[in-house]
Amino acid sequence: MQHDDFNDLLRRVPDFTTPQLKRLRHHIEKRVKLEAVYETLTASEEAVTQCPYCQSKTFIRWGSSENERQRYRCKRCAKTFNALVGSPLYRMRKEELWLEYVETMRYGLSLRKAAKVTGVSLRTAFRWRHAFLSSPRDHKATSLSGIIEADETFLPESFKGKKTMPRPARKRGGR
Ligand SMILES: [Zn+2]
Repeated sequence: MQHDDFNDLLRRVPDFTTPQLKRLRHHIEKRVKLEAVYETLTASEEAVTQCPYCQSKTFIRWGSSENERQRYRCKRCAKTFNALVGSPLYRMRKEELWLEYVETMRYGLSLRKAAKVTGVSLRTAFRWRHAFLSSPRDHKATSLSGIIEADETFLPESFKGKKTMPRPARKRGGR
């Protein structure tokens, strides 16, 4: 967005009604969280070493999908893919909540609490836990450790400022 447009928008903020402000905040928070997830995934994109379909090592960047993830196109089989193809996270929705969810796992919250903190259904919480835990170790792009290295800004609200965690954070890579 152009600098002037942005300043115009800021100037109009005082005119917003409370419901409008709340909607705006919701959109901004969602966007910021999404950016953090994409940043994390992009940071580990050197982990893409071969085509997940034919294992060819010759592929090229091929634009981004509608949700802004980098896509690749295999030069041998011509299929396109992103860093998540072949991982349990592929096709998982609500990416903006992933970081928060992974944090709840890191602090050892129960499924029920994790669902409540993150704002997803118990069923989703169950599926996500399975997906994050079962990311294959050699699939760097989706490894839990990669994702939880994300900025602490994205700790769930309920943990912020607390001295004692429900359980000490486990060391990365440990078992
Ligand atoms: Zn291929």
